[in-house]
Amino acid sequence: AKEQGKNNYQFFSEELHQVLSKKLQLERELRRALDEKQFTLHYQPKIHLQTGQIIGMEALIRWEHPDLGLIPPIQFIPIAEETGLIVPLGEWVMRTACQQTKVWQEAGFTQLAVAVNISLRQFMQNNLIEMITSILEETGLAPQYLELEITESMALNVDYTIRILNRLKGLGISISIDDFGTGYSSLSYLSQFPIDRLKIDQSFLRNLNPQNQAIIKTIIDMAHNMKIAVIAEGVETQEHVDFLKEQRCNEVQGYFYSKPLPTKEIDSYLQVNRYG
Ligand code: C2E
Ligand code: CA
Ligand code: CA
Ligand code: CA
Repeated sequence: AKEQGKNNYQFFSEELHQVLSKKLQLERELRRALDEKQFTLHYQPKIHLQTGQIIGMEALIRWEHPDLGLIPPIQFIPIAEETGLIVPLGEWVMRTACQQTKVWQEAGFTQLAVAVNISLRQFMQNNLIEMITSILEETGLAPQYLELEITESMALNVDYTIRILNRLKGLGISISIDDFGTGYSSLSYLSQFPIDRLKIDQSFLRNLNPQNQAIIKTIIDMAHNMKIAVIAEGVETQEHVDFLKEQRCNEVQGYFYSKPLPTKEIDSYLQVNRYG
């Protein structure tokens, strides 16, 4: 039994070793990718539902790997978070998105806003406020055109979150709760958080059965009672649009309007859809 135990231990430790070295390898590659500027941002338009006007863009990161091609964020964001690389990476995203939005504004889209996804690890950094302040200064983007998309996971430490969110609001930037309805949905914190927008998780639209319809309706009513705007993501069909209009959802985002696109293609999208 002792012998077997030892073997088991070796077996597990080898497996663990493999997992760890894969992670280390990916971490090394991510670090190099950051140095070698292999990351790029795609942008997905956000549309005002009643007027059809483009109100802003969500910045979504991609890794342009020299051998593997375009790698989606789901495959590297979790490791970037675990290793802390999300901090420099997130700063790069913030700077790039703000710079680009300033360029679009100067090209005549003066009211265009940008939304940046913030992971928990980033949110917990004690220099978050300083980082954002200096990027806004550096790029010249007015704070009202920057929105942070955070998730319900940040409600784990309510007091800390309220303090940080109030400081962010103090800068003049907007706060949005992403993937709403899937997380630690304690509705009680909503009234305590200074939030501008709820983003309904796309899983509810994906399967628009009576139960999910009821959930979407409830979220919209509740948010509107609290004077919070609602955006739906993952809008893919005319049926989705009609349902959301009926429910007085404020804004929409999804393949029905546009996939996330590289900067150049967003340039043309903006030109074509200039007057809404
Ligand atoms: P998310 O923030 O919830 O972003 C929405 C995801 O849904 C995006 O996937 C987007 O491409 C996709 N999507 C948009 N419209 C539709 C639609 O109509 N149908 C379908 N089926 N999908 C749609 P993406 O770009 O692969 O990003 C996945 C996740 O990676 C994001 O989810 C976000 O959590 C994370 N992420 C992306 N960029 C960043 C970043 O810069 N920083 C951080 N921390 N996380 C990021
Ligand atoms: Ca998001
Ligand atoms: Ca989302
Ligand atoms: Ca998500």
